[in-house]
Amino acid sequence: SNGEPQQDCLFCKIVAGEVPATLVRETETTVAFRDINPQAPTHVLVIPKAHYQDAASLAAAAPQLMADVVREAGEVAALEKITPAEGGGPHTGYRVVFNTGSGAGQTVFHTHAHVLGGRGLEWPPG
Ligand code: 5GP
Ligand code: ZN
Repeated sequence: SNGEPQQDCLFCKIVAGEVPATLVRETETTVAFRDINPQAPTHVLVIPKAHYQDAASLAAAAPQLMADVVREAGEVAALEKITPAEGGGPHTGYRVVFNTGSGAGQTVFHTHAHVLGGRGLEWPPG
């Protein structure tokens, strides 16, 4: 995974507009869209437009792009109004997750940050 589009990658197809998605935000380097099987009231995926198989590969090969993804996760949280508010309401705060490897639940091998919030989030996650 060297940043080039991969023919059989679902998220490369979303970037190319070949598979529809509900977009939340787009930048020159990233796309944010709603997860098709949401696990929380807010469940948005933030991806780099370039293909890297996981977060570690992306961070090693293109650290600025990894920074773009993490910054966009924060932008999505702000748009969704789940950032930790002054005085801390019950459903503020959010979680950013990079599942890395099939053993950790990664099913799409194009780096994506899950942005989860809008409900209580237990810790540890189980
Ligand atoms: P992973 O399990 O790899 O960490 O996360 C992949 C995520 O992609 C899952 O939460 C899954 O629901 C989501 N997903 C799978 N296929 C599609 C799709 O076609 N469209 C959208 N929007 N999300 C998808
Ligand atoms: Zn891809």
